[in-house]
Amino acid sequence: MSLTRAKLALAAAAVASLSLLAACQQGRAGDDYDVVVIGGGLMGSSAAWHLAKAGENVLLLEKQAAEYTQGSSLGEARIARSLGGAGNIWSYMHNRTVAGVEELIAFLNGYEPGHSMNDVYTTSPVSYVRHHSQASWIENIRHNQVDRYEYAKTPEEAEALFNLKMPPDTIMWREYKAHSGTINPETLIAYLHKALALLGADAQYRNQVDELSRDGGGYSLLVTNTETGESRRLRADKVVSAAGPYTGRLLSNTAPYFDSLINPQRVFLAFFAIEPDVYHSWAEADKQRFRELYPAINSTNPTRQGSFFTMLEGRTPQGSPVIKIGGHFQRSDISDLDSVWQEALAEAEIQWSRESTARHLSLLDLEIGEQDLNYLSGYSCVYSLTATEVPYVTHVRGGLGEPDPNLVVIAGLSGVGAKGALAYGLIAANLLLGKDDPHPMYQKAKTAFGYQRLVSDLSH
Ligand SMILES: Cc1cc2nc3c(=O)[nH]c(=O)nc-3n(C[C@H](O)[C@H](O)[C@H](O)COP(=O)(O)OP(=O)(O)OC[C@H]3O[C@@H](n4cnc5c(N)ncnc54)[C@H](O)[C@@H]3O)c2cc1C
Repeated sequence: MSLTRAKLALAAAAVASLSLLAACQQGRAGDDYDVVVIGGGLMGSSAAWHLAKAGENVLLLEKQAAEYTQGSSLGEARIARSLGGAGNIWSYMHNRTVAGVEELIAFLNGYEPGHSMNDVYTTSPVSYVRHHSQASWIENIRHNQVDRYEYAKTPEEAEALFNLKMPPDTIMWREYKAHSGTINPETLIAYLHKALALLGADAQYRNQVDELSRDGGGYSLLVTNTETGESRRLRADKVVSAAGPYTGRLLSNTAPYFDSLINPQRVFLAFFAIEPDVYHSWAEADKQRFRELYPAINSTNPTRQGSFFTMLEGRTPQGSPVIKIGGHFQRSDISDLDSVWQEALAEAEIQWSRESTARHLSLLDLEIGEQDLNYLSGYSCVYSLTATEVPYVTHVRGGLGEPDPNLVVIAGLSGVGAKGALAYGLIAANLLLGKDDPHPMYQKAKTAFGYQRLVSDLSH
């Protein structure tokens, strides 16, 4: 367990008794909660924080141990970007999350100074390298872009702007903004759980919800401790379901249609380091150009399968940066959700990752090839997709076809969730509490993820 996690577990244990006390003071039994949030990945942790901040008596249940080892949120880096500008909901969700992280950091520093935005975000340019047949995509975005960017349409422009050797059939766009770059899910989850503990909210790990059913106006939950095998029943007035790829299974009683609305897919991530002798032979300016080449979305190969995302995540003991790579269109169906996490990468997947990484690095024009890339490791992960790849943050449909005010689902976050994590959780918490935000972009996002869309999807 990392130091942060260990501290966190201690803090959580220390406040568990306080939260029980709070529940009793509110005249409730210890197993009776205002709100239970199911799932302690980015979405559940975010929703729980917003609810606890609003004064709710919140219990967060997570089936894994305090150390998060499998789930869509696993890892230390996800691309965070504001691309899209005015009117774009993804840009809004990112920027709203940056503001939310600022608030979280200020809250934590009020108790224990030393937390910083740089713990959660690594600011760096975000590059989009594309085949020129996709130029209309960029031309559309340009009109609304409010953040600083540079755009190279020819190799000469790429050389002048970025000092990179771009092939003639390629275009490149770079976004520059504070807190664009990467976001660290591991740290963000740890900080959210720390904040929950400080607010007296209880996070219980190794607690799996095996059954969720309606009980009068509220919910009954059958919860099993995955360490001891013991089960108990809890009651909650309101529930947030944030079970990621397990959403269909969790809602099989209360909203069984989610099983077909959300499709869990296997994706893989591969990690490489440049041969240390090669990396250390580079001039400082080249190391700088290399760092600025990440994070990136590279679609120079015009097929969907050829497109990849890549970013830096840590360093080897020899000092070479670790390159992470994966492809959203390398995803595949899953036969067994519980065992897919242990599935090793196929040779072809490692080779695809190696070739793609070498292709990206060829922009540096430094005579570095596939043979200079040491494969370090790789793992299978899972995210869940909706038909349109737009997530849901919505009340479920109740038994009589009306919105159920007391059960909110956050699901289908695919490859977009991390950068907007605090905004998805905010919308979920507001839905549950009957609160709103008049900001036009909040309203636009709420509608895109919300109940009318759910009803329309169900009718199709
Ligand atoms: C390979 C990959 C690359 C990505 N790249 C990006 C990117 O560049 N930028 C970006 O913004 N986003 C990216 N994302 C998306 C982002 O990481 C996810 O959208 C986000 O992490 C989803 O979080 P979640 O909380 O919904 O799911 P999860 O993290 O899976 O959380 C669900 C949690 O619920 C728990 N759980 C499930 N069932 C139960 C139960 N019955 N009882 C108790 N607990 C339960 C699970 O253990 C898990 O911890 C990427 C995702 C992947 C996988």
